[in-house]
Amino acid sequence: MPQQHCDPDVLAMAAVDGTDLSEADRAHLATCAQCADDLAGFRSVVAVGRDSADVALVTPPPSVWEAVQAEIRPGSDARETSPTAGGATVTSLDSRRERGRPAGWTRWLPVGVAAAAGAVFGGLVMSATGGSSPSPAPAAPQVVAQAQLAALSDGVDTIGSGQALFEKDADGKDILVLDTENLEQASGYYQVWLINPDTSGLISLGTVGSGAQEVTFPVPAGIDPKDFSVVDISDEPLDGDPNHSKVSVLRGKLEV
Ligand SMILES: [Zn+2]
Repeated sequence: MPQQHCDPDVLAMAAVDGTDLSEADRAHLATCAQCADDLAGFRSVVAVGRDSADVALVTPPPSVWEAVQAEIRPGSDARETSPTAGGATVTSLDSRRERGRPAGWTRWLPVGVAAAAGAVFGGLVMSATGGSSPSPAPAAPQVVAQAQLAALSDGVDTIGSGQALFEKDADGKDILVLDTENLEQASGYYQVWLINPDTSGLISLGTVGSGAQEVTFPVPAGIDPKDFSVVDISDEPLDGDPNHSKVSVLRGKLEV
């Protein structure tokens, strides 16, 4: 007998603030692609919201970098203090929750997430069509850098591959267009990162599915592809932990 699907409210909450999922939900997620996709979708929206809203990314304080470096060092238990954390949307959700989750909260949350998703997907559509204006001749996105993605020699064995284009769209906004082939089903879900090899800083761009995918991610303003020169796709367990799992499936260097 198939178990009933996970409550979307519960999945959305887990994506927003890392609320632990029940044993039953976790067990169900491990076997249900639909619910796993739902969770990945919620996480993608939250990640995009956080990344896009945080201008502090341009000049992160040294303490933030130290925390990031500590986080990715093998054996470290430090929680990620990513410069991507904390966006306007998330802050407002948290403040509502701190007031004791008033009645209607769980009905309200999916609406907020859906609205955010609409904004994000709307933005993607605008990117795909070359701009937000109804101009009949929109400028084509300009490729700033590109990377070929392949399995790591000492990483996960995969037949998958990919290409990433770091572009400036018609509105002058930075985007990363990811094109993947033959990605096997993830153990958990696939997360896309930009990594600065000099500072070990990393930025979560969002999630991507298995198989062949073409996904466009907004890149936070001020991120230089010469610095954040590594595109990395990791397999993340469904454990609510926002840190990089250290299980990289594909990786490549952006050539400017
Ligand atoms: Zn399900």
